[in-house]
Amino acid sequence: MEKLYADVIIDIAHEKLDRPFQYRIPESMRDTLEEGQCVSVPFGAGNKLRKGYVVAVRNTPDWDVEKIKDIAGPAPQGVSIEEKQIRLAAFLKRNYGSTMIQAMKTVLPARQSVRPLEKKSVRLLQDEEQAFKTMEICLKKHQTAKARLLRELLEFASLPYPLVTGKLHISPSTIKALEQQGIVAVEKESRYRNPVRLKVRQDERKTLSREQALIVDTVLKDFDSGSRDVYLLHGITGSGKTEVYVCLIEEILKRGRQAIVLIPEIALTYQTLIRFYSRFGEQVSVLNSSLSMGEKYDQCQRAKNGEIQVIIGPRSALFTPFPNIGLIVIDEEHEGSYKSENSPKYHARETAEEVARLHGASLVLGSATPSLEAYYRAMRGEYRLFTLKERLTGGSLPAVSVVDMREELRQGNRSIFSRKLQELMADRLEKKQQIMLFLNRRGYAGFISCRACGHVMKCPHCDVSLSEHRGGRLICHYCGYEEPAVRVCPQCGSRYISGFRAGTQQIEEKLKELYPEASVLRMDADTTKSKDGYERILSAFSAGEADVLIGTQMIVKGHDFPNVTLVGVLAADLSLSAGDYRAGERTFSLLTQAVGRAGRGSLPGEAVIQTYQPEHYSVVHAAAQDYEGFYEEEILYRELLRYPPVCNMMAVQIFAAGEERGKELAEKLAELAESYGNEEKEMSKRLLVIGPAPAAIGKLYDIFRFVFYVKYEKYDKLVEIKDALEERAALLFSAKETLQIDFNPVNVF
Ligand code: ADP
Ligand code: ZN
Ligand code: ZN
Repeated sequence: MEKLYADVIIDIAHEKLDRPFQYRIPESMRDTLEEGQCVSVPFGAGNKLRKGYVVAVRNTPDWDVEKIKDIAGPAPQGVSIEEKQIRLAAFLKRNYGSTMIQAMKTVLPARQSVRPLEKKSVRLLQDEEQAFKTMEICLKKHQTAKARLLRELLEFASLPYPLVTGKLHISPSTIKALEQQGIVAVEKESRYRNPVRLKVRQDERKTLSREQALIVDTVLKDFDSGSRDVYLLHGITGSGKTEVYVCLIEEILKRGRQAIVLIPEIALTYQTLIRFYSRFGEQVSVLNSSLSMGEKYDQCQRAKNGEIQVIIGPRSALFTPFPNIGLIVIDEEHEGSYKSENSPKYHARETAEEVARLHGASLVLGSATPSLEAYYRAMRGEYRLFTLKERLTGGSLPAVSVVDMREELRQGNRSIFSRKLQELMADRLEKKQQIMLFLNRRGYAGFISCRACGHVMKCPHCDVSLSEHRGGRLICHYCGYEEPAVRVCPQCGSRYISGFRAGTQQIEEKLKELYPEASVLRMDADTTKSKDGYERILSAFSAGEADVLIGTQMIVKGHDFPNVTLVGVLAADLSLSAGDYRAGERTFSLLTQAVGRAGRGSLPGEAVIQTYQPEHYSVVHAAAQDYEGFYEEEILYRELLRYPPVCNMMAVQIFAAGEERGKELAEKLAELAESYGNEEKEMSKRLLVIGPAPAAIGKLYDIFRFVFYVKYEKYDKLVEIKDALEERAALLFSAKETLQIDFNPVNVF
């Protein structure tokens, strides 16, 4: 075929331009032009030069040749896109609804070529004995950063510079000071060295437990026989999942393939990274949001050239342009951060299945509290389920007490701490053991509950909690149901009915009133504003610099604190009432993780869960650390109300400048959706349209927001409806009005 014409997607994200435009390929480019290449083309009436990507090459034109313009040339600094990535972009566009250019940008982590960067590492110049002495001197002088770096260098003689300044948060000036003293050297190399261990440890290669070996063997046997599957590893923290990933990666690399490991950004700690660095050295690279465009580009180039074989990072690491991926791992697969908040609103798990299909790779998911989606698929035989039951580091699961806060009120205790928790806190402070207080504020959306009986104001149609709006009106964000403000509890008549308003700061104050001598660290949005604020607080607590750590959901992930023997969960049910169908799942997961924080070391742990709904199944099963029990009840609820994963659900949001206009557009589109497929005879299989209703944030920057939901069993049908809605919107909507679609949303709108 002669390469004469090219279809080009222009780099402008507008629905009206969301199609390829055809260009003539100039003589000079005919031999070299390929699909995916980034080119410069004249566009529009003014023939302004625009960047675009070639998505198809043809030898006959589809248009009047007179009207076809010439490609101007390769785009300066343009990065071309691999064929598999184009197919992946098409998948994103089709399944999640976005323009092709948005989808292409999503799969291209670095869109501009930049000069490759130098790799630097920090190497210890002193021998072990000297370095140990230096560290002790630093400690005496309270030079904690220097001491911390030396402690790590005593283990690994050489460490990648970005790991030191990033995850260890040692400032460049500290490194420079040590360099000037002749204690360390900063070396520039063309690539990272393997972090070299000073002491060769006996336990470096662990013998896998029977359970672990079974998983590794099964996945590899399948792989070698050509069958590709999805495997779900269900195991508590410390049960050896990471060890399984590492072994699998080693084997996959031996087979000449590459591996992608997704870990939520919050869990990308120094401890985790060093484990991969020390096993894979220069073959591994880490992606995270703080990398510059240059660094991202550099990594993509190294992945393409085969200089690295393993990448670790949050969801966007999925798009690393490896030539031949053999394994994808998603750790903590239940995490909400695997769902993109920007268009295309893809889910990393589903997208990973597609990447695995494109490359012929195996997919391994791991979690202590699997998402309902993953577990449901495992129960239906779509995923292979493995359960890791033991904690390999020793330490026992904590003893959990559930405290009924209604009873506390009845007994005259108005404090935010129950008597049980106060008693245990006093004991731990006395013993100099550490305490974590976790305030569950996840998804907090102004719901109303009764402190006397625990009753929560809910929508009679959707079984989610109602949200308090100005003047006290209560509104359901799914269907728009509304009722007036409540003064007394409809269940028990008590006047103690209101929203929960305590924050981490108040908890800190109350704690200081009770125990003035206790030292307290607080972690919330305020104290973690600065870069690294999060890790700094965690490592201070880890180093024993405080007795108590107070925080929101941020503190339940990542780090291990061996000296923590008491975890207090305040307001466990706050997240239960978050006004969306995933509230129970999220609560179970958070409570399980929080409780699991106690007793990681040699000392046994205890946990206290304070709640107004002690009988709720999420609380009961979390206290018993019983995932299966929780799953059975939760899936019944999803079946009954036809929520995902039993059904598929599409959220359709409409943004408009006028309230009436927005409502009208939403109603028109909802009607169109409704006109689709009610031919199903069985009620339980029919297409359901819920709403439209004002969104949770009904008005933002003077733009009114409406939302409706479409539930249907078959995903493909929803995609078909999405296409129809988009088509209709293109006709009805003015330039300032927008439509946004989200499949199986993680958050409520
Ligand atoms: P998870 O990823 O499930 O939290 P890890 O793989 O991190 O679990 O394992 C927890 C701890 O147990 C780690 O310190 C790890 O080094 C250790 N470990 C894992 N597998 C084994 C094994 N087969 N033998 C001994 N120790 C192990
Ligand atoms: Zn009540
Ligand atoms: Zn409702």
